Amino acid sequence: MNELFDVIIIGSGAGGGTLAHALAPSGRRILVLERGDYVPGEPENWDPTAVWKHLRYRAAERWLDEQGREFTPYMHYCVGGNSKFWGSVLFRLRREDFGALEHLDGLSPAWPIDYETLAPYYDAAERMYHVHGAAGSDPTEPPRGPYPYPPIAHSREMDLLVEGLRAQGLHPSPLPLALVRPGEEGGCRLCNTCNSFPCRIRAKGDAETCGITPALTSGTVALWTNARAERLLTDPQGRRVTAVEVERNGSRIRVEAPVVIVSCGAVNSAALLLRSANDRHPDGLANSSGLVGRRYMAHRATMMEGFHPLKRNTTVFQKTVAINDYYLRGPHQPYPLGQIQSQGRTHGVMAQTAVPWIPVWAYDAWVARGVDWLAMSEDLPRDENRVTADSQGRIHLAYRPNNTRAHQQLVHEAKRILHRLGFWKVMTFSHGNTNTTHQCGTAVFGADPRTSVLDPFCRAHDVENLFVVDASFFPSSAAVNPALTIIAQALRVAEHLRNTDLR
Ligand SMILES: Cc1cc2nc3c(=O)[nH]c(=O)nc-3n(C[C@H](O)[C@H](O)[C@H](O)COP(=O)(O)OP(=O)(O)OC[C@H]3O[C@@H](n4cnc5c(N)ncnc54)[C@H](O)[C@@H]3O)c2cc1C
Ligand code: SF4
Repeated sequence: MNELFDVIIIGSGAGGGTLAHALAPSGRRILVLERGDYVPGEPENWDPTAVWKHLRYRAAERWLDEQGREFTPYMHYCVGGNSKFWGSVLFRLRREDFGALEHLDGLSPAWPIDYETLAPYYDAAERMYHVHGAAGSDPTEPPRGPYPYPPIAHSREMDLLVEGLRAQGLHPSPLPLALVRPGEEGGCRLCNTCNSFPCRIRAKGDAETCGITPALTSGTVALWTNARAERLLTDPQGRRVTAVEVERNGSRIRVEAPVVIVSCGAVNSAALLLRSANDRHPDGLANSSGLVGRRYMAHRATMMEGFHPLKRNTTVFQKTVAINDYYLRGPHQPYPLGQIQSQGRTHGVMAQTAVPWIPVWAYDAWVARGVDWLAMSEDLPRDENRVTADSQGRIHLAYRPNNTRAHQQLVHEAKRILHRLGFWKVMTFSHGNTNTTHQCGTAVFGADPRTSVLDPFCRAHDVENLFVVDASFFPSSAAVNPALTIIAQALRVAEHLRNTDLR
Protein backbone atom coordinates (compact mmCIF):
# COMPACT_ATOMS: atom_id res chain seq x y z
CA MET A 1 0.00 0.00 0.00
CA ASN A 2 1.37 3.48 -0.86
CA GLU A 3 0.01 6.61 0.83
CA LEU A 4 0.91 10.16 -0.12
CA PHE A 5 1.54 13.13 2.20
CA ASP A 6 3.27 16.52 1.89
CA VAL A 7 5.48 16.02 4.91
CA ILE A 8 6.38 12.93 6.90
CA ILE A 9 7.72 13.42 10.42
CA ILE A 10 9.23 10.32 12.03
CA GLY A 11 8.97 10.57 15.82
CA SER A 12 6.59 12.60 18.00
CA GLY A 13 8.98 13.77 20.75
CA ALA A 14 10.39 17.20 21.49
CA GLY A 15 11.63 17.68 17.92
CA GLY A 16 8.87 15.92 15.95
CA GLY A 17 5.93 16.96 18.16
CA THR A 18 7.00 20.61 18.00
CA LEU A 19 7.40 20.49 14.23
CA ALA A 20 4.00 18.89 13.71
CA HIS A 21 2.38 21.70 15.69
CA ALA A 22 4.35 24.45 13.99
CA LEU A 23 3.70 23.11 10.48
CA ALA A 24 0.01 22.32 11.02
CA PRO A 25 -1.29 25.82 10.10
CA SER A 26 0.48 25.58 6.72
CA GLY A 27 -2.36 23.37 5.47
CA ARG A 28 0.06 20.74 4.23
CA ARG A 29 -0.86 17.11 4.77
CA ILE A 30 1.43 15.93 7.52
CA LEU A 31 1.91 12.37 8.70
CA VAL A 32 3.58 11.74 12.05
CA LEU A 33 4.93 8.22 12.45
CA GLU A 34 5.42 7.14 16.06
CA ARG A 35 6.75 3.71 16.98
CA GLY A 36 5.12 3.76 20.41
CA ASP A 37 1.57 4.33 21.62
CA TYR A 38 -0.08 6.87 23.91
CA VAL A 39 0.94 6.61 27.56
CA PRO A 40 -2.39 5.66 29.17
CA GLY A 41 -3.68 7.90 31.97
CA GLU A 42 -3.73 5.45 34.91
CA PRO A 43 -2.79 5.29 38.62
CA GLU A 44 0.58 3.72 37.73
CA ASN A 45 1.67 7.02 36.10
CA TRP A 46 2.50 8.33 39.56
CA ASP A 47 3.48 5.05 41.21
CA PRO A 48 7.26 4.90 41.91
CA THR A 49 7.16 1.08 42.07
CA ALA A 50 5.52 0.80 38.65
CA VAL A 51 7.81 3.39 37.10
CA TRP A 52 11.12 2.55 38.77
CA LYS A 53 10.90 -1.09 39.79
CA HIS A 54 8.67 -2.60 37.12
CA LEU A 55 9.91 -0.15 34.44
CA ARG A 56 6.34 0.00 33.17
CA TYR A 57 6.93 2.71 30.57
CA ARG A 58 10.57 2.04 29.71
CA ALA A 59 11.48 0.89 26.18
CA ALA A 60 11.76 -2.91 26.22
CA GLU A 61 14.67 -2.73 23.80
CA ARG A 62 18.19 -3.79 24.74
CA TRP A 63 21.25 -2.05 23.32
CA LEU A 64 24.86 -3.20 23.35
CA ASP A 65 27.77 -1.29 24.82
CA GLU A 66 31.35 -1.12 23.56
CA GLN A 67 32.14 -4.53 25.10
CA GLY A 68 29.07 -6.10 23.52
CA ARG A 69 27.23 -6.23 26.86
CA GLU A 70 23.48 -5.69 26.74
CA PHE A 71 21.86 -2.89 28.69
CA THR A 72 18.40 -1.32 28.91
CA PRO A 73 18.67 2.29 27.73
CA TYR A 74 16.82 4.98 29.65
CA MET A 75 14.35 5.50 26.79
CA HIS A 76 10.62 5.76 26.26
CA TYR A 77 8.88 5.01 22.99
CA CYS A 78 5.49 6.71 23.10
CA VAL A 79 3.53 9.69 21.80
CA GLY A 80 5.55 12.65 23.06
CA GLY A 81 8.71 10.53 23.34
CA ASN A 82 11.04 11.17 26.25
CA SER A 83 9.40 14.53 26.88
CA LYS A 84 6.55 12.66 28.63
CA PHE A 85 9.03 11.72 31.35
CA TRP A 86 11.19 14.78 31.53
CA GLY A 87 11.72 16.94 34.57
CA SER A 88 10.33 19.91 32.61
CA VAL A 89 13.47 21.99 33.12
CA LEU A 90 13.64 24.02 29.92
CA PHE A 91 16.82 26.10 29.86
CA ARG A 92 18.27 28.19 27.08
CA LEU A 93 21.88 27.50 26.22
CA ARG A 94 24.17 30.26 27.46
CA ARG A 95 25.36 32.71 24.81
CA GLU A 96 28.93 31.38 25.28
CA ASP A 97 27.79 27.83 24.47
CA PHE A 98 27.33 28.86 20.83
CA GLY A 99 31.01 29.78 20.51
CA ALA A 100 34.09 27.60 20.95
CA LEU A 101 34.79 27.08 24.65
CA GLU A 102 38.01 25.69 26.08
CA HIS A 103 37.36 23.07 28.77
CA LEU A 104 39.77 21.33 31.13
CA ASP A 105 39.82 18.23 28.91
CA GLY A 106 39.38 19.72 25.45
CA LEU A 107 37.45 22.04 23.18
CA SER A 108 33.71 22.46 22.99
CA PRO A 109 33.24 23.43 19.33
CA ALA A 110 31.31 26.44 18.01
CA TRP A 111 27.80 26.21 16.57
CA PRO A 112 27.06 27.44 13.03
CA ILE A 113 24.45 29.82 14.48
CA ASP A 114 24.75 32.25 17.36
CA TYR A 115 22.50 32.85 20.35
CA GLU A 116 20.85 35.87 18.71
CA THR A 117 19.69 33.69 15.78
CA LEU A 118 17.93 31.27 18.10
CA ALA A 119 16.68 33.83 20.65
CA PRO A 120 13.28 34.58 18.99
CA TYR A 121 12.61 30.85 18.69
CA TYR A 122 13.53 30.36 22.35
CA ASP A 123 10.89 33.01 23.12
CA ALA A 124 8.29 31.12 21.07
CA ALA A 125 9.37 27.77 22.55
CA GLU A 126 8.89 29.06 26.09
CA ARG A 127 5.40 30.31 25.23
CA MET A 128 4.45 27.05 23.52
CA TYR A 129 5.66 24.85 26.41
CA HIS A 130 4.37 27.08 29.27
CA VAL A 131 7.79 27.80 30.73
CA HIS A 132 7.74 29.48 34.15
CA GLY A 133 10.79 31.40 35.31
CA ALA A 134 12.27 34.73 36.36
CA ALA A 135 14.86 36.61 34.34
CA GLY A 136 17.63 38.56 36.01
CA SER A 137 19.09 36.44 38.81
CA ASP A 138 21.13 33.85 36.90
CA PRO A 139 24.67 35.18 36.34
CA THR A 140 25.10 33.20 33.10
CA GLU A 141 21.73 34.02 31.58
CA PRO A 142 21.88 35.20 27.96
CA PRO A 143 20.12 38.47 27.01
CA ARG A 144 16.38 37.91 27.16
CA GLY A 145 13.03 39.45 28.02
CA PRO A 146 10.72 38.30 30.80
CA TYR A 147 9.52 34.71 30.93
CA PRO A 148 5.96 34.14 29.64
CA TYR A 149 4.92 32.76 33.05
CA PRO A 150 6.09 33.64 36.59
CA PRO A 151 8.51 31.36 38.47
CA ILE A 152 7.35 28.44 40.60
CA ALA A 153 7.68 29.47 44.25
CA HIS A 154 10.20 27.58 46.37
CA SER A 155 8.90 25.54 49.29
CA ARG A 156 9.68 26.87 52.78
CA GLU A 157 12.67 24.51 53.12
CA MET A 158 14.03 25.36 49.68
CA ASP A 159 13.63 29.05 50.46
CA LEU A 160 15.87 28.59 53.52
CA LEU A 161 18.43 26.72 51.43
CA VAL A 162 18.37 29.50 48.82
CA GLU A 163 19.12 31.99 51.59
CA GLY A 164 21.98 29.73 52.72
CA LEU A 165 23.34 29.59 49.16
CA ARG A 166 23.26 33.39 48.91
CA ALA A 167 25.08 33.60 52.25
CA GLN A 168 27.85 31.55 50.61
CA GLY A 169 28.18 34.24 47.92
CA LEU A 170 26.40 32.12 45.29
CA HIS A 171 23.65 33.28 42.90
CA PRO A 172 20.82 30.73 42.97
CA SER A 173 18.03 31.33 40.47
CA PRO A 174 14.60 29.79 39.81
CA LEU A 175 14.67 26.76 37.51
CA PRO A 176 12.72 27.42 34.29
CA LEU A 177 9.89 24.85 34.33
CA ALA A 178 7.37 23.77 31.70
CA LEU A 179 4.18 23.23 33.68
CA VAL A 180 0.63 23.90 32.55
CA ARG A 181 -1.37 26.19 34.85
CA PRO A 182 0.34 25.23 38.12
CA GLY A 183 -1.88 25.58 41.16
CA GLU A 184 -5.01 26.27 39.09
CA GLU A 185 -8.11 24.10 38.92
CA GLY A 186 -7.32 21.24 36.51
CA GLY A 187 -3.72 22.40 36.14
CA CYS A 188 -0.40 21.12 37.47
CA ARG A 189 -0.62 20.06 41.12
CA LEU A 190 3.12 20.51 41.82
CA CYS A 191 3.31 16.92 43.04
CA ASN A 192 6.35 14.80 43.97
CA THR A 193 6.17 12.40 41.01
CA CYS A 194 7.10 14.57 38.03
CA ASN A 195 10.69 14.01 36.90
CA SER A 196 10.85 10.52 35.29
CA PHE A 197 7.07 10.02 35.67
CA PRO A 198 4.35 10.74 33.09
CA CYS A 199 1.79 13.27 34.26
CA ARG A 200 -1.49 11.54 35.03
CA ILE A 201 -3.49 14.72 34.44
CA ARG A 202 -1.45 15.81 31.40
CA ALA A 203 -0.38 19.06 32.99
CA LYS A 204 3.28 18.71 32.09
CA GLY A 205 4.47 20.94 29.29
CA ASP A 206 5.53 18.04 27.05
CA ALA A 207 5.47 17.32 23.33
CA GLU A 208 2.16 15.47 23.45
CA THR A 209 0.28 18.15 25.40
CA CYS A 210 1.89 21.17 23.75
CA GLY A 211 2.66 19.71 20.30
CA ILE A 212 0.82 16.64 19.08
CA THR A 213 -2.59 17.14 20.73
CA PRO A 214 -3.15 20.68 19.40
CA ALA A 215 -1.64 19.71 16.01
CA LEU A 216 -4.19 16.92 15.60
CA THR A 217 -7.06 19.41 15.90
CA SER A 218 -5.91 21.12 12.69
CA GLY A 219 -7.40 18.42 10.50
CA THR A 220 -4.25 18.30 8.36
CA VAL A 221 -2.07 16.27 10.70
CA ALA A 222 -2.39 12.50 10.99
CA LEU A 223 -0.66 10.45 13.67
CA TRP A 224 0.08 6.78 13.21
CA THR A 225 1.02 5.09 16.47
CA ASN A 226 2.80 1.72 16.65
CA ALA A 227 4.37 2.68 13.34
CA ARG A 228 8.13 2.16 13.30
CA ALA A 229 10.18 3.58 10.43
CA GLU A 230 12.49 0.80 9.30
CA ARG A 231 14.31 2.34 6.34
CA LEU A 232 14.39 5.37 4.12
CA LEU A 233 14.46 4.63 0.38
CA THR A 234 16.02 6.97 -2.18
CA ASP A 235 15.86 7.59 -5.91
CA PRO A 236 18.52 5.84 -8.03
CA GLN A 237 20.83 8.86 -7.77
CA GLY A 238 20.53 8.89 -3.98
CA ARG A 239 19.61 12.61 -4.05
CA ARG A 240 16.07 12.35 -2.64
CA VAL A 241 14.22 10.17 -0.20
CA THR A 242 11.35 8.64 -2.15
CA ALA A 243 9.62 6.60 0.55
CA VAL A 244 9.68 5.52 4.16
CA GLU A 245 9.31 1.83 4.87
CA VAL A 246 7.17 1.42 7.96
CA GLU A 247 6.37 -1.54 10.18
CA ARG A 248 2.85 -0.92 11.46
CA ASN A 249 0.93 -3.42 13.55
CA GLY A 250 2.78 -6.31 11.96
CA SER A 251 2.57 -5.22 8.32
CA ARG A 252 5.06 -3.39 6.17
CA ILE A 253 3.86 -0.22 4.42
CA ARG A 254 5.50 2.44 2.29
CA VAL A 255 4.62 6.08 2.70
CA GLU A 256 5.75 8.93 0.48
CA ALA A 257 6.12 12.68 0.75
CA PRO A 258 8.28 15.39 -0.87
CA VAL A 259 9.79 16.16 2.54
CA VAL A 260 10.88 13.62 5.14
CA ILE A 261 11.87 14.72 8.63
CA VAL A 262 13.62 12.30 10.95
CA SER A 263 12.95 13.11 14.62
CA CYS A 264 13.59 9.78 16.33
CA GLY A 265 15.98 11.10 19.01
CA ALA A 266 19.75 11.26 18.56
CA VAL A 267 20.42 7.52 18.83
CA ASN A 268 17.47 6.22 16.81
CA SER A 269 17.79 8.88 14.11
CA ALA A 270 21.41 7.90 13.53
CA ALA A 271 20.45 4.22 13.57
CA LEU A 272 17.70 4.84 10.99
CA LEU A 273 20.10 6.66 8.65
CA LEU A 274 22.69 3.91 9.07
CA ARG A 275 20.08 1.18 8.44
CA SER A 276 19.11 3.02 5.23
CA ALA A 277 22.47 2.47 3.51
CA ASN A 278 22.20 1.73 -0.21
CA ASP A 279 24.45 1.68 -3.29
CA ARG A 280 24.66 5.47 -3.38
CA HIS A 281 25.11 5.78 0.37
CA PRO A 282 27.12 2.69 1.27
CA ASP A 283 28.05 3.96 4.76
CA GLY A 284 24.54 5.06 5.65
CA LEU A 285 22.20 7.69 4.30
CA ALA A 286 23.54 11.27 4.30
CA ASN A 287 26.85 10.04 5.64
CA SER A 288 29.48 11.29 3.18
CA SER A 289 31.14 13.07 6.13
CA GLY A 290 31.36 9.78 8.05
CA LEU A 291 29.82 11.58 11.04
CA VAL A 292 26.40 9.92 11.23
CA GLY A 293 26.28 8.23 14.63
CA ARG A 294 29.57 9.76 15.78
CA ARG A 295 30.11 12.44 18.44
CA TYR A 296 27.36 11.01 20.62
CA MET A 297 27.14 13.05 23.83
CA ALA A 298 24.99 12.59 26.92
CA HIS A 299 26.13 14.94 29.73
CA ARG A 300 28.17 13.99 32.75
CA ALA A 301 25.57 13.77 35.47
CA THR A 302 25.76 12.90 39.17
CA MET A 303 22.72 12.70 41.42
CA MET A 304 23.43 13.99 44.90
CA GLU A 305 21.48 13.83 48.13
CA GLY A 306 22.21 16.03 51.12
CA PHE A 307 21.15 14.18 54.29
CA HIS A 308 20.44 15.48 57.77
CA PRO A 309 19.27 12.84 60.29
CA LEU A 310 17.33 15.31 62.41
CA LYS A 311 15.58 17.26 59.65
CA ARG A 312 12.59 15.83 57.85
CA ASN A 313 12.19 17.25 54.38
CA THR A 314 8.53 18.15 53.91
CA THR A 315 8.98 19.71 50.47
CA VAL A 316 6.68 18.19 47.86
CA PHE A 317 7.79 19.93 44.66
CA GLN A 318 11.53 20.34 45.09
CA LYS A 319 12.82 21.02 41.61
CA THR A 320 12.97 24.81 41.75
CA VAL A 321 16.61 25.95 42.23
CA ALA A 322 19.53 26.36 39.81
CA ILE A 323 23.14 27.28 40.66
CA ASN A 324 25.14 28.42 37.65
CA ASP A 325 28.07 30.12 39.40
CA TYR A 326 30.55 27.52 38.08
CA TYR A 327 28.98 27.15 34.66
CA LEU A 328 31.62 29.18 32.81
CA ARG A 329 34.54 28.99 35.24
CA GLY A 330 35.40 27.08 38.36
CA PRO A 331 36.30 28.70 41.67
CA HIS A 332 39.98 27.74 41.34
CA GLN A 333 40.62 27.68 37.58
CA PRO A 334 39.26 29.44 34.48
CA TYR A 335 37.49 26.45 32.85
CA PRO A 336 33.75 25.63 32.87
CA LEU A 337 32.54 23.06 35.40
CA GLY A 338 28.79 22.92 34.77
CA GLN A 339 25.48 23.37 36.53
CA ILE A 340 23.94 22.31 39.83
CA GLN A 341 20.14 22.08 40.12
CA SER A 342 17.72 20.77 42.73
CA GLN A 343 15.95 17.60 41.69
CA GLY A 344 12.51 16.10 42.16
CA ARG A 345 12.05 14.14 45.40
CA THR A 346 13.66 10.71 45.40
CA HIS A 347 11.36 7.90 46.55
CA GLY A 348 12.74 4.92 48.49
CA VAL A 349 12.08 2.51 45.65
CA MET A 350 13.99 4.76 43.23
CA ALA A 351 17.00 4.93 45.54
CA GLN A 352 16.88 1.16 45.95
CA THR A 353 17.78 0.68 42.28
CA ALA A 354 21.31 1.85 43.23
CA VAL A 355 21.89 -0.90 45.84
CA PRO A 356 18.98 -3.37 45.62
CA TRP A 357 19.85 -5.46 48.72
CA ILE A 358 19.21 -2.55 51.10
CA PRO A 359 15.53 -2.77 52.18
CA VAL A 360 13.17 -0.14 50.85
CA TRP A 361 12.08 0.94 54.36
CA ALA A 362 15.70 1.98 55.05
CA TYR A 363 15.75 4.03 51.89
CA ASP A 364 12.36 5.54 52.72
CA ALA A 365 13.71 6.68 56.09
CA TRP A 366 16.81 8.06 54.40
CA VAL A 367 15.14 9.98 51.58
CA ALA A 368 12.59 11.47 54.01
CA ARG A 369 15.56 13.38 55.48
CA GLY A 370 17.30 14.14 52.21
CA VAL A 371 17.29 16.96 49.66
CA ASP A 372 18.09 15.96 46.07
CA TRP A 373 20.41 17.70 43.64
CA LEU A 374 21.94 17.10 40.25
CA ALA A 375 25.44 18.14 39.14
CA MET A 376 25.76 18.24 35.36
CA SER A 377 28.82 18.94 33.22
CA GLU A 378 29.38 19.21 29.51
CA ASP A 379 30.21 16.07 27.59
CA LEU A 380 32.68 16.85 24.80
CA PRO A 381 32.24 15.46 21.27
CA ARG A 382 34.58 12.56 20.44
CA ASP A 383 34.41 10.69 17.13
CA GLU A 384 34.90 7.39 19.00
CA ASN A 385 31.72 7.86 21.02
CA ARG A 386 29.30 6.52 18.48
CA VAL A 387 26.08 4.77 17.58
CA THR A 388 26.17 1.92 15.08
CA ALA A 389 23.52 -0.53 13.88
CA ASP A 390 24.41 -4.17 13.18
CA SER A 391 23.03 -6.36 10.38
CA GLN A 392 19.95 -7.18 12.49
CA GLY A 393 19.39 -3.46 13.09
CA ARG A 394 20.42 -3.71 16.78
CA ILE A 395 21.86 -0.58 18.30
CA HIS A 396 25.43 -0.51 19.57
CA LEU A 397 26.50 2.43 21.69
CA ALA A 398 30.23 2.89 22.21
CA TYR A 399 30.70 5.54 24.84
CA ARG A 400 33.57 6.55 27.08
CA PRO A 401 32.95 9.47 29.42
CA ASN A 402 35.17 12.52 29.04
CA ASN A 403 35.60 15.92 30.64
CA THR A 404 35.99 13.87 33.79
CA ARG A 405 38.17 16.32 35.72
CA ALA A 406 35.68 19.16 35.27
CA HIS A 407 32.85 16.94 36.44
CA GLN A 408 34.80 15.69 39.46
CA GLN A 409 35.53 19.28 40.43
CA LEU A 410 31.87 20.22 40.05
CA VAL A 411 30.78 17.32 42.26
CA HIS A 412 33.47 18.27 44.78
CA GLU A 413 32.25 21.89 44.87
CA ALA A 414 28.61 20.79 45.09
CA LYS A 415 29.48 18.61 48.09
CA ARG A 416 31.21 21.53 49.80
CA ILE A 417 28.21 23.74 49.16
CA LEU A 418 25.82 21.15 50.58
CA HIS A 419 27.98 20.54 53.65
CA ARG A 420 28.07 24.30 54.25
CA LEU A 421 24.26 24.29 54.06
CA GLY A 422 24.32 21.97 57.06
CA PHE A 423 23.84 18.54 55.53
CA TRP A 424 25.68 15.89 57.52
CA LYS A 425 26.31 13.57 54.65
CA VAL A 426 26.15 13.88 50.87
CA MET A 427 25.49 10.72 48.86
CA THR A 428 26.26 10.58 45.14
CA PHE A 429 25.14 8.28 42.36
CA SER A 430 25.69 8.22 38.60
CA HIS A 431 24.07 6.08 35.90
CA GLY A 432 27.40 6.37 34.05
CA ASN A 433 27.54 5.13 30.47
CA THR A 434 23.93 3.93 30.35
CA ASN A 435 22.39 7.34 30.99
CA THR A 436 20.99 8.11 27.56
CA THR A 437 18.49 10.76 28.70
CA HIS A 438 20.36 13.80 27.33
CA GLN A 439 21.63 12.11 24.17
CA CYS A 440 22.69 14.41 21.33
CA GLY A 441 25.25 15.12 18.61
CA THR A 442 24.95 12.13 16.24
CA ALA A 443 24.20 14.15 13.05
CA VAL A 444 25.91 17.43 13.68
CA PHE A 445 24.85 20.59 11.83
CA GLY A 446 27.28 22.99 10.16
CA ALA A 447 28.06 24.88 6.98
CA ASP A 448 30.70 22.50 5.61
CA PRO A 449 29.51 19.11 4.24
CA ARG A 450 32.91 17.62 4.99
CA THR A 451 32.62 18.29 8.71
CA SER A 452 28.88 18.10 9.28
CA VAL A 453 25.86 15.97 8.33
CA LEU A 454 23.20 18.69 8.29
CA ASP A 455 23.14 22.29 7.16
CA PRO A 456 22.22 25.06 9.64
CA PHE A 457 18.49 24.41 8.94
CA CYS A 458 18.96 20.70 9.71
CA ARG A 459 18.68 19.63 6.06
CA ALA A 460 21.01 16.77 5.12
CA HIS A 461 23.88 18.03 2.96
CA ASP A 462 23.70 14.85 0.85
CA VAL A 463 19.93 14.34 0.44
CA GLU A 464 17.94 17.38 -0.59
CA ASN A 465 14.51 16.53 0.91
CA LEU A 466 15.74 14.98 4.15
CA PHE A 467 15.83 16.82 7.49
CA VAL A 468 16.86 15.61 10.93
CA VAL A 469 15.17 17.66 13.64
CA ASP A 470 15.79 16.39 17.15
CA ALA A 471 18.79 16.32 19.49
CA SER A 472 21.08 14.95 16.76
CA PHE A 473 22.21 18.34 15.41
CA PHE A 474 24.04 19.56 18.55
CA PRO A 475 27.75 20.26 17.82
CA SER A 476 28.35 20.48 21.58
CA SER A 477 26.21 19.39 24.50
CA ALA A 478 26.60 22.50 26.72
CA ALA A 479 25.77 21.78 30.37
CA VAL A 480 22.12 22.77 30.61
CA ASN A 481 19.17 20.49 29.84
CA PRO A 482 18.88 20.17 26.06
CA ALA A 483 15.19 20.15 25.20
CA LEU A 484 14.39 23.86 24.88
CA THR A 485 17.15 24.13 22.29
CA ILE A 486 15.71 21.16 20.36
CA ILE A 487 12.29 22.82 20.44
CA ALA A 488 13.61 26.25 19.43
CA GLN A 489 15.52 24.81 16.47
CA ALA A 490 12.43 22.79 15.46
CA LEU A 491 10.44 26.04 15.38
CA ARG A 492 13.19 27.67 13.31
CA VAL A 493 13.21 24.76 10.84
CA ALA A 494 9.39 24.85 10.66
CA GLU A 495 9.48 28.53 9.72
CA HIS A 496 12.11 27.77 7.07
CA LEU A 497 9.94 24.96 5.67
CA ARG A 498 6.83 27.15 5.64
CA ASN A 499 8.75 29.60 3.45
CA THR A 500 10.13 26.91 1.15
CA ASP A 501 8.58 25.30 -1.92
CA LEU A 502 8.53 21.68 -0.83
CA ARG A 503 8.23 19.96 -4.20
C1 LIG B 1 13.60 10.92 32.74
C2 LIG B 1 14.01 12.03 31.81
C3 LIG B 1 14.08 13.33 32.29
C4 LIG B 1 14.47 14.36 31.44
N1 LIG B 1 14.43 15.64 31.92
C5 LIG B 1 14.71 16.66 31.08
C6 LIG B 1 14.56 18.01 31.50
O1 LIG B 1 14.13 18.30 32.62
N2 LIG B 1 14.89 18.98 30.62
C7 LIG B 1 15.35 18.71 29.36
O2 LIG B 1 15.65 19.65 28.63
N3 LIG B 1 15.48 17.45 28.94
C8 LIG B 1 15.15 16.42 29.75
N4 LIG B 1 15.24 15.13 29.29
C9 LIG B 1 15.72 14.91 27.92
C10 LIG B 1 14.62 15.19 26.90
O3 LIG B 1 13.51 14.39 27.18
C11 LIG B 1 15.18 14.94 25.52
O4 LIG B 1 16.30 15.78 25.31
C12 LIG B 1 14.17 15.22 24.42
O5 LIG B 1 12.95 14.56 24.63
C13 LIG B 1 14.78 14.78 23.10
O6 LIG B 1 13.92 15.13 22.06
P1 LIG B 1 14.03 14.36 20.68
O7 LIG B 1 13.01 14.91 19.77
O8 LIG B 1 15.46 14.35 20.28
O9 LIG B 1 13.70 12.82 21.04
P2 LIG B 1 12.46 12.18 21.84
O10 LIG B 1 11.73 13.19 22.62
O11 LIG B 1 12.99 10.99 22.55
O12 LIG B 1 11.52 11.70 20.66
C14 LIG B 1 11.86 10.70 19.74
C15 LIG B 1 10.58 10.01 19.30
O13 LIG B 1 10.84 9.20 18.16
C16 LIG B 1 10.19 7.93 18.31
N5 LIG B 1 10.92 6.98 17.47
C17 LIG B 1 12.19 6.54 17.66
N6 LIG B 1 12.55 5.73 16.64
C18 LIG B 1 11.49 5.68 15.79
C19 LIG B 1 11.26 5.00 14.55
N7 LIG B 1 12.20 4.25 13.97
N8 LIG B 1 10.05 5.15 13.96
C20 LIG B 1 9.07 5.92 14.54
N9 LIG B 1 9.25 6.58 15.72
C21 LIG B 1 10.46 6.47 16.31
C22 LIG B 1 10.26 7.69 19.80
O14 LIG B 1 9.32 6.73 20.23
C23 LIG B 1 10.01 9.08 20.36
O15 LIG B 1 8.64 9.35 20.50
C24 LIG B 1 14.84 14.08 30.10
C25 LIG B 1 14.77 12.77 29.62
C26 LIG B 1 14.35 11.76 30.45
C27 LIG B 1 14.25 10.35 29.91
S1 SF4 C 1 0.88 17.49 38.27
FE1 SF4 C 1 2.54 18.91 37.74
S2 SF4 C 1 4.26 18.25 39.01
FE2 SF4 C 1 2.77 16.54 38.98
S3 SF4 C 1 3.43 15.25 37.24
FE3 SF4 C 1 1.89 16.68 36.46
S4 SF4 C 1 3.12 18.37 35.65
FE4 SF4 C 1 4.45 17.23 37.02
